[in-house]
Amino acid sequence: MRKRAPQKRALVVGLGIAGMSAAIGLRWAGWTPVIVERAPERRTGGYFVGLFPEGRQAAVDLGIAEHLHTRNPVREGSGNAWSLDRRGRRRPALGFLDQPGGPAAVLRGDIEAALWQSITGVEVRFATTPVAITEGAADAQVLLENTDTGARYRENFDLVVGADGMRSSVRRIVFGPHEDYLTTWNAMICAFQLKEQVPSYEARDSIIIARAKRAVWVFGLADHAPTALLTYRTRDIQEQFSGSRVERLRAVFSGMDDPVVRHVLDSLEEAPDHLFDSVHQVKMPRWSTRRVVLVGDAAWCMNLYSGMGATSSLRGGAALGAAVAEHPDDLGAALDAWEAGLRPFITKNQRTARLKQQMFVPSSRRAEAVRAVLIGLVRRVRGRQLATEAGGPQAPALSGTSR
Ligand SMILES: Cc1cc2nc3c(=O)[nH]c(=O)nc-3n(C[C@H](O)[C@H](O)[C@H](O)COP(=O)(O)OP(=O)(O)OC[C@H]3O[C@@H](n4cnc5c(N)ncnc54)[C@H](O)[C@@H]3O)c2cc1C
Repeated sequence: MRKRAPQKRALVVGLGIAGMSAAIGLRWAGWTPVIVERAPERRTGGYFVGLFPEGRQAAVDLGIAEHLHTRNPVREGSGNAWSLDRRGRRRPALGFLDQPGGPAAVLRGDIEAALWQSITGVEVRFATTPVAITEGAADAQVLLENTDTGARYRENFDLVVGADGMRSSVRRIVFGPHEDYLTTWNAMICAFQLKEQVPSYEARDSIIIARAKRAVWVFGLADHAPTALLTYRTRDIQEQFSGSRVERLRAVFSGMDDPVVRHVLDSLEEAPDHLFDSVHQVKMPRWSTRRVVLVGDAAWCMNLYSGMGATSSLRGGAALGAAVAEHPDDLGAALDAWEAGLRPFITKNQRTARLKQQMFVPSSRRAEAVRAVLIGLVRRVRGRQLATEAGGPQAPALSGTSR
């Protein structure tokens, strides 16, 4: 009788969207994934994420769609998107969810929770990180460290998947220093959950204040308090990380004396946690070596302006599983096919992120004005389309709904 080939083992570094997607994909292909996560426990919560059709399809492919809780705010006239002009006047606006493709509103934690439910049985080691990776012909030897105890041990895997985010340790260890791959966008973000909606707005409303070089976004959600995003442009990224974050943000947004901005900044002081970081894209000529592959932000971080990071992380993980299943005896061919299939999608979205950045936070007063004109035009065209679809006689202005 022929002996069954032992199951191939993959080390997946990172318990985020990309890591769990890759683990599900690999398990589906018959592999045994082991996930290591630097944090002591699984994170929850997170900021607003728009999930595009490609991400929703990947969720179906991964078998997590039924667990995915979406929070689209529009319901019976509530959940409008508003923009505020320089005089503080409130206008119906096109919100994030009005983009082509009709992204679904979720929290990052909603996607992670759905993935987590589907990785039952996968070994997850918290407080664990790789410190060295040596690739051989037959396998990759990884030196792992328990960050609590400092204990180190070696283990061999058929494949190492670096899904450890924008400042990936796997990428640094195997491919080289961050500076070689991180492109700087001279911009900062701060994302957090509001305790409550801005006074005088409906609970699910979204609010956009996009000024030259600085912008405040409030994303309304169904069945959850809104989340906020502060973003601004700066040439001195290092300086932004010194001193108190709240004081820095108050200084950056001073002069935007609006009740919405005041409410958001006050909420930041009370928020249990927030994400404050510089904005980058990861650009790499190739995402894998013989036995190490990068997925998600570690490989191609498209950044928040693209709105495609979660979508591409899901898709990347699902596609990795499909590629190794299609080439069960040839890992090199599987990784080639995976990258060839994914690269055009990533390149296209990395490019359009520059344009989308202007929509999030215009680079100048002129760009701010152009943005306002463009959005007004699109709203009018959309209004006409809706009127035609409804068989109405004239083209009413869009009523400010987000979807
Ligand atoms: C404010 C904001 C808004 C966004 N909006 C959208 C949106 O609308 N639509 C969209 O599609 N995307 C959006 N994104 C992007 C999206 O959230 C990310 O692209 C996606 O979550 C990346 O997932 P990831 O798994 O690749 O990386 P991460 O989420 O960074 O996860 C990496 C994991 O690896 C762990 N880790 C790190 N280093 C190590 C190590 N050395 N050892 C072990 N573990 C390690 C981390 O703790 C973490 O758990 C947004 C991002 C931000 C910041």
